[in-house]
Amino acid sequence: MPFARRTPKEPMDLPPVTAASGGPEMRIEGRRLSTLGMRWLRVTCACGHEGRVAVPELADRHGGDTRVRQVAEKLQCSQCGQARVRRIALSD
Ligand SMILES: [Zn+2]
Repeated sequence: MPFARRTPKEPMDLPPVTAASGGPEMRIEGRRLSTLGMRWLRVTCACGHEGRVAVPELADRHGGDTRVRQVAEKLQCSQCGQARVRRIALSD
């Protein structure tokens, strides 16, 4: 039963979240990729390296129902080679 855990109320059209407006603890970790639209995820690694990944590209690779936090667990830093995401923000 892959879809057993379903969130009853999931806002589909939230305003864009930016690092400036939301701070480090933005609540996008539980969002599905398909709800984020044509944006970028700005990912900061524990080593300090920051990169941007296109949301549609992630949705293609992992599926639109995948949540941001699940993607974060799989992202690998191009600088230190580890999966140690410290922070994720949405950017346009
Ligand atoms: Zn790193």
